[in-house]
Amino acid sequence: MPKPRVIYWFRTDLRLHDSPALQAALDLEPECLWPIWCWDPHYVYRVRNGHNRWKFLLECQEDLSGSISKLNKNSRLFVIREGPQTLLPKLFKAWRSTHLVFEKDTDPYGRERDAEIIKLAKEAKVEVVIKYGRTLWDSDELVRFNGNKPTMTISQVQTAGGKIGDVPRPLPAPKSLPDPGSLEFDFEIDRPSHDPDVNHTQRQSEEKSYANLKGPKGGFEVPTMEELGLIAPTKKLVGGETEALKMLDRIVANEDYTATFEKPKTAPTAFDPAATTMLSPYHHFGALSVRELYWRVQDVIKKYKGTASKPPVSLIGQLQFRDMYFAAHASIGSVFGQTHGNSHCKFIPWHLRSKIDEKTGLATKEYIVNSEEAESWFKRWKFGITGFPWIDAVMRQLRTEGFIHHLARHSVACFLTRGGCYIDWERGAEVFEEWLLDHEPACNIGNWQWLSCTAFFSQFYRCYSPIAFPQKTDKNGDFVRHYVPELKDFPAKYIYEPWKAPIQDQRKAGCWIKGDGTAGVVDGLQTYPKPMFDFSTRREICIQGMKKAYDVGLNGADEKVKDGTWRELFDDAAEGPTKGSNDKEANKGMRTHVEWELNDSDIHFGEDRGDAEEVKSPKKAAAQKESGSSGGGKRKRQDSSGGSMDKFVTKSASGSKSKAKKK
Ligand SMILES: Cc1cc2nc3c(=O)[nH]c(=O)nc-3n(C[C@H](O)[C@H](O)[C@H](O)COP(=O)(O)OP(=O)(O)OC[C@H]3O[C@@H](n4cnc5c(N)ncnc54)[C@H](O)[C@@H]3O)c2cc1C
Repeated sequence: MPKPRVIYWFRTDLRLHDSPALQAALDLEPECLWPIWCWDPHYVYRVRNGHNRWKFLLECQEDLSGSISKLNKNSRLFVIREGPQTLLPKLFKAWRSTHLVFEKDTDPYGRERDAEIIKLAKEAKVEVVIKYGRTLWDSDELVRFNGNKPTMTISQVQTAGGKIGDVPRPLPAPKSLPDPGSLEFDFEIDRPSHDPDVNHTQRQSEEKSYANLKGPKGGFEVPTMEELGLIAPTKKLVGGETEALKMLDRIVANEDYTATFEKPKTAPTAFDPAATTMLSPYHHFGALSVRELYWRVQDVIKKYKGTASKPPVSLIGQLQFRDMYFAAHASIGSVFGQTHGNSHCKFIPWHLRSKIDEKTGLATKEYIVNSEEAESWFKRWKFGITGFPWIDAVMRQLRTEGFIHHLARHSVACFLTRGGCYIDWERGAEVFEEWLLDHEPACNIGNWQWLSCTAFFSQFYRCYSPIAFPQKTDKNGDFVRHYVPELKDFPAKYIYEPWKAPIQDQRKAGCWIKGDGTAGVVDGLQTYPKPMFDFSTRREICIQGMKKAYDVGLNGADEKVKDGTWRELFDDAAEGPTKGSNDKEANKGMRTHVEWELNDSDIHFGEDRGDAEEVKSPKKAAAQKESGSSGGGKRKRQDSSGGSMDKFVTKSASGSKSKAKKK
């Protein structure tokens, strides 16, 4: 019997340790093994990807490639510049491969792609081996043991997981790897279309990663940021399995920290040292196995003499939440990422809802601008110029570093949706998709639904105050001073409410509280915006809106949501910014935005530790009518800066340009 000739296809698993799929490939005792990565245009052009995450991915690939070469000097990660659907059948033939092995991917695109690849492999008589390794338990199994229903609570995960059995112990990294076979092929590149390129605003120069199948030097190199036309990263974390394993060693060496970790007690303002592990970006790219973290933590707990923390607040609990979102996503599929057509997502008549493709029922990349004021709030939120220093500091940290603490994510997500702006959670999830290093579709979508009280969590009357909440862990406002340097010299008593500082204090601190974030320098002093609304008023309006929507009780799959007749149920006189029957949008007649052109149990940590302010008897909202007028007067130019606030420019009446303060 000739020995197998195996293509190992790296995707969600940029590591050598604890890789059941790689182990399965080695168990075949292959004659040759090609470790490859298909440079898939889907991720290059169709998924929002900020420059920081790109760089993190390239670092993970370089690190893995180096580790492979250490085990076999003839081998490396062979990056081939073409989509797998067209590339793999050609490789099967050229390399006379007998097997294709990869880690299971339950994301909707992953499933669809893999179904096609399995079919193509069958046609080529290539055997496909798939192993799960991305989660504690196989997400499809969790769903099966949850009565074929999506896992919507942590206790469902624990019960279903308990039925499946113990999380498997991690596998050691291999000690050697077989040689790759011949790397020759004579086929041409199937060059993908650049259109649409959702990331074009990120690029400083032309994207050229598809110039040659084997890369510019012909050595299957990992692409560079220059090839992608991307700007230099500003992140702090360095990608790669080597770095992840070092971080993990440091974490578990601190037994007290590991065994007694309680997420609600971690400070969202603490990064030196970081309050949480910051391992999520490594999990996302598979540079660190979640089962490795799970068992290293369990082993510490087993030996620990004191009282260890327990799920859901412990580190193990955090990983269970991750599995919960993965299994929910695996079960619900594409519509998990949107309200429309999603029976698990409550319908709230948010501002800036997604435009839906009537044929597919799926959200397009556009959204409906049903309120110019909300549109302006959304941009100000995105670029960290809301006038609420806590919100702005977090959003600027996200934009520059690609990482923010979980409770900071809570704050800004609550503020954008049910606790401030009443803007669709899908808009917020898109910004996180673009900027987070750890962006994981399942976790991002699920957590946004949680925070917006559209699924997983429903206590909408508990809101995060942008003033009281950060004060609990950072009275002096050091976090704000760092990320919003305009305010660095403000007295501590005004740091979260600088608009209350008397004019002489503003002068002394070297910053006027003025305008909408685009005023630039005035009378020789920099400016920081006034708050874009009165928070208490907005919170009450939102709570009334939520109450109304909960009373109406529609979910995304209701016919009334699909055909637009939901409007009949929302009386315009009702409290809350519902728009009701006067809302004529109906996907027609309203301005739409293409996002990429904008550029410019019920326990879930934060809420339950009592940080969120509960409004017990919501007053009738102030008679603040939702106006369709532009908030703040000036119309902002659509930003084409690739997420840089530097280009957030307006023209003054005289036509001269004024720039937002550069961070
Ligand atoms: C609005 C919003 C969006 C989010 N988007 C993402 C996302 O795109 N990708 C992502 O991985 N996490 C996301 N989270 C969850 C969570 O904030 C991050 O996983 C966590 O902050 C990562 O920091 P850490 O590695 O220090 O976590 P730790 O607290 O140290 O937890 C250890 C690990 O558990 C997992 N984890 C922890 N909390 C969660 C959670 N709530 N949901 C899922 N997994 C969790 C992560 O893999 C993490 O590395 C989001 C949360 C919110 C509120």
